[in-house]
Amino acid sequence: MDLRYWLGEALDSVREWSAGFGPYRPHPSLEVGDERFAEEFAALTERLRDNYPFFHPRYAGQMLKPPHPAAVAGYLATMLINPNNHALDGGPATARMEREVVRQLAAMFGFGDHLGHLTSSGTIANLEALFVARELHPGRGVAFGAEAHYTHARMCGVLGIEAHPVPADARGRIDLDALEALLRTGRVGTVVLTAGTTGLGAIDPIHEALTLRERYGVRIHVDAAYGGFFTLLAGAEGPEGLAAEPWRAIARCDSVVVDPHKHGLQPYGCGAVLFRDPTVGRFYRHDSPYTYFTSDDLHLGEISLECSRAGAAAAALWLTFRLLPPTNEGLGRVLAAGRRAALEWARLIEASPSIELYQWPELDIVGYFPATEPMALSRIDEAGARILRDGMADPDDPVFLSTLRVDAGAMAARHPKITSDADGARILRSVLMKPESEDWVPHLHARVEALATR
Ligand SMILES: *Cc1c(COP(=O)(O)O)cnc(C)c1O
Repeated sequence: MDLRYWLGEALDSVREWSAGFGPYRPHPSLEVGDERFAEEFAALTERLRDNYPFFHPRYAGQMLKPPHPAAVAGYLATMLINPNNHALDGGPATARMEREVVRQLAAMFGFGDHLGHLTSSGTIANLEALFVARELHPGRGVAFGAEAHYTHARMCGVLGIEAHPVPADARGRIDLDALEALLRTGRVGTVVLTAGTTGLGAIDPIHEALTLRERYGVRIHVDAAYGGFFTLLAGAEGPEGLAAEPWRAIARCDSVVVDPHKHGLQPYGCGAVLFRDPTVGRFYRHDSPYTYFTSDDLHLGEISLECSRAGAAAAALWLTFRLLPPTNEGLGRVLAAGRRAALEWARLIEASPSIELYQWPELDIVGYFPATEPMALSRIDEAGARILRDGMADPDDPVFLSTLRVDAGAMAARHPKITSDADGARILRSVLMKPESEDWVPHLHARVEALATR
């Protein structure tokens, strides 16, 4: 699709709709001439060059990529009207679209009857899940794996709940024996499991942890902010297929969070939280003197902690899902390419004398480090940081990677022969979330090898 054309169409269609309400005089206080605008707009576009090329396959660093053009066109067309999904009065059309996409997300996880809404981020979505968890288990804490997202500990602080980090196993997943020992103390009311850790994409054994819920009467919340859409590859044929058990088990958990602004092709400002029991909506109950006039239907603002939310975010996701639905044949194909890219790179690294694989990738994130002589944490750290720097600085053929700090214990669990002469090291990390990465893996690998042996 030609984005330039469709952005023009977006503008035309909203202008035509607007014209139906009759002419009015734009206020002079808002007037900006084209000449002045040109000057400042040039300043903006100039400043925007100070960015990394997130769109390009040579960018193989963090979880960053531009949205799909359909999401951009959908967002822009809607933003020209600027509906607010706080209430049906604020954006009737986009509030309905939000309901529809939330239903699609719920179906993707196998949730039947549910309560859910979009949020401005995964952090806020997780906060909402933990808020509901606190209301249901007052006075009891929250447990999460040591590799869980850092915001869980923070949000426990915000909510005034005790946070209990649980050690990780040698694959970066929550250690179930350690979790059970903690649950036996009776101090925990909710367990957060991660389906795709932010660092390396490790998937907690959700299906096994579910037995603990009945035994200890805890809630189970799944943080699938990053990994959620990979459920589309659960049990799929081909090398990209994932073991189905943990993903299928999400349907039996109490709540789940997924970020369409990570793997759902959306611009930032799009997370989602889903609850399996719709009656938890009662914890959100409040009265707003400003809104809720036009209908007795549930307003989205009545079931969310945030007030104003971009209707444009719902519209962008809605339009994207019309074209690339959250199914194996739709969005699944996009994720499959990144997954295959990670597998291919992991194989190349395993065969390489100059780079070591940190652990086998479970999703589309690869962790690796240079084979230094001697193999010691301090040397690995130093060489990794140098590769990162040199890779970006190359004027002709740059590569953009990221680093991940791992502690000495985590490294020793995977690579016992490495000398622990420091309390940790930065390893290299590449999130291959663009399907275009698949074609580039041999080149990325060759570049990293060349940088490692320089
Ligand atoms: C990204 C991420 C978050 C935080 O989401 P934001 O949208 O960045 O606020 C939480 N948990 C996991 C597992 C994530 O990957």
